[in-house]
Amino acid sequence: MTDITPILSAPSVSIVVPAFNEIEVLPAFHRRLSDVMGRTSLSWEVVYVNDGSTDGTLAALEVLCTTDPRVALVNLSRNFGKEIALTAGLDHARGTEAIVVIDVDLQDPPEVIPLLIAEWRRGFDVVYARRRMRQGETWLKKATAAAFYRVMRRVSDKVEIPADTGDFRLMSRRALEALLALRERHRFMKGLFAWIGFPTTGVLYDRAPRAAGTTKWNYWHLWNFSLEGLTSFTVAPLKVATYLGLITAFLAACYGAIIIFRTVVWGNPVAGYPSVMVVVLILGGIQLVTLGIIGEYLGRVFNEVKARPLYLAERFLPSRYDATENPG
Ligand code: UDP
Ligand code: MG
Repeated sequence: MTDITPILSAPSVSIVVPAFNEIEVLPAFHRRLSDVMGRTSLSWEVVYVNDGSTDGTLAALEVLCTTDPRVALVNLSRNFGKEIALTAGLDHARGTEAIVVIDVDLQDPPEVIPLLIAEWRRGFDVVYARRRMRQGETWLKKATAAAFYRVMRRVSDKVEIPADTGDFRLMSRRALEALLALRERHRFMKGLFAWIGFPTTGVLYDRAPRAAGTTKWNYWHLWNFSLEGLTSFTVAPLKVATYLGLITAFLAACYGAIIIFRTVVWGNPVAGYPSVMVVVLILGGIQLVTLGIIGEYLGRVFNEVKARPLYLAERFLPSRYDATENPG
């Protein structure tokens, strides 16, 4: 976006790499990436995003920048989190044809990139890398991840978020432009990647365990991440209020009718109980339904403020009818 080097012609492929306290793996990553990309016939650059690291990652990246002309660096002012770091990198990627997103920790092997490129050359706009198995991850993490994908698939109708995929993927320039048109603040990248559509395919790969360093994700983060995914991508939780309200109101009305019936037929020894109970139940039901209605409107406001484009056309073929050639 901000083109500081207008004289240079842009490379065809950009590799975007968010990095947060990754000094231990950075040199190995860069070496492997350079090896792999050097063997392709494409011109390429790598855009590192330093996401507020506190361990010398920035210094290492600055050195890389001066020694390797293919390295670009976006240094964020503090730690913004991976999703935002990724967006910053994508904003600054100059690749004219394709953009690859990859983690620095070598869990996503750079050797897979040529496979992504091959699929892209066959005409796919989005090629995601899909983990064949999750090595070095506990069964708990696998199980929670599986549950998360299942829930997401159920609640986000139409938008299909592929399971077992991270952010490791290749996007064509036009798919990237589409993604960058989504400027919402709560960025659930997996969802946004899926939302843009375009011809998409996946490539299977074995996800390695982290080469060095530690993951920045603990269960608390993952839980928050899932909440972020659910709440920023669907209004399903708001709809829960509506249905809960309707069910409660219905049950309350039934119970109220029973109380009234019993009181009329047999009377009730506790003075005031039937009237109070009926009023409480009716009011409670009305309140819940009203909350649900407010929730529905809130959901609409929420969707509007995201200001997403209504649709993205993959292509438009205009009619070639010429009125001057066919008068009348
Ligand atoms: N990352 C980042 N900012 C953060 C946390 C992580 O830029 O606040 C980067 C990190 O350097 C790595 C990628 O995001 O390149 C994935 O992070 P990590 O390996 O910790 O996540 P996991 O692979 O365990 O999901
Ligand atoms: Mg990782």
